[in-house]
Amino acid sequence: MKGNARIRNSVSTKQSVTSPPSQALEFSKNIVDGLQDGALILDTSFQVIYSNGPFTQLISEKKKGFRKSQIYGKCIFDLFSHNPENDLKTAQKCLSSKKTIIAKEVPIKNPKGKEFHIIQTQIPILNHQNNNECVGIIAIFRNVTDEVKLQQRYRKLLAREKERADELEILVQQRTKQLTDALDDVVQLSRIDPLTGLLNRRAFKEKAEPLISVLKRHKRTGALIICDLDLFKNVNDQYGHQAGDVVLIESAKALRESVRSEDVLCRCGGEEFLLLLSETKEEFLFESAERCRKKIASMPINKLVPGKKDPQTISMGCALIPHHGTTIDALVKVADKALYEAKHQGRNKVIIAKT
Ligand code: GH3
Ligand code: MG
Ligand code: MG
Repeated sequence: MKGNARIRNSVSTKQSVTSPPSQALEFSKNIVDGLQDGALILDTSFQVIYSNGPFTQLISEKKKGFRKSQIYGKCIFDLFSHNPENDLKTAQKCLSSKKTIIAKEVPIKNPKGKEFHIIQTQIPILNHQNNNECVGIIAIFRNVTDEVKLQQRYRKLLAREKERADELEILVQQRTKQLTDALDDVVQLSRIDPLTGLLNRRAFKEKAEPLISVLKRHKRTGALIICDLDLFKNVNDQYGHQAGDVVLIESAKALRESVRSEDVLCRCGGEEFLLLLSETKEEFLFESAERCRKKIASMPINKLVPGKKDPQTISMGCALIPHHGTTIDALVKVADKALYEAKHQGRNKVIIAKT
């Protein structure tokens, strides 16, 4: 048995059919005829007993609409229904509760298959002369197809806009990351000596100054050391500038490996290096500097510069923090004098400035 036929049976077997008496019917017709929306008057078995003009237009594709005879006597659920069982429940609820029911918007198809959207309102017709008995229903069908289409279009547009905004956001994030990375690279490059990979003098100052402040604040000691490769000009002159570069690179590596990671090391120009030893007591300073000196002197020079027999050596001048000063400039001045002394004493030496 088809859905609508089954529903019709259930309607007719469960209830005794009542139609509005003539006075109520006339009154209802007046209301229905005054409406711009399609509207029907139904008896209590939901058969159509009256239709206004807009309703026949609504369910027809042709301008002139259906003839009323094609609608009258038919069950509302045969004419069209999105969900017959649900519509039956709604209609029965209207009858039993004697209250107006406004259903939510649903898509439906007219008998020719054209889909449109409606909001159905069911108003009970009550017979005041017979104990407010419910004698029928006025069913109003508001055609909201245009509004729904507009809403759907708007939703689609909104979804497309959101998609576009999401894509744009991803693009902006990617671009921002590229720019930030590039900026990081530039900042990093501006702090690094390209030959040895050590910090340059500017970056050394930025890192060393706060460390010196901490030493000062906590009344601890450290040292600033200037390291200068000995007779380095000869390497360039005898073995070429490229050989000199190799010695510079290896010397930087040797120095870095001889100190702690928290110590700050830079190439401050030419064949000179600055080293800040943080948290170094005076009695251990010589030992620490000697470790650097020995490491340089033990580089396998004949492998680095084929033909060179004399080891590469380094001289170092040390200034004590805070004893000799608490600024880089003041400490460099003192350390430079000690370095001069180391060179004077024959090079390959560590000299700590006089206290
Ligand atoms: P001293 O023991 O008195 O320090 O003698 P020195 O020869 O090391 O000192 P000097 O200042 O006379 O020579 C330093 C040399 O370092 C001169 C310069 O050509 C060389 N030099 C500076 N920068 C570079 C560089 O980047 N690469 C190479 N290969 N040589 C460099
Ligand atoms: Mg020098
Ligand atoms: Mg030198």
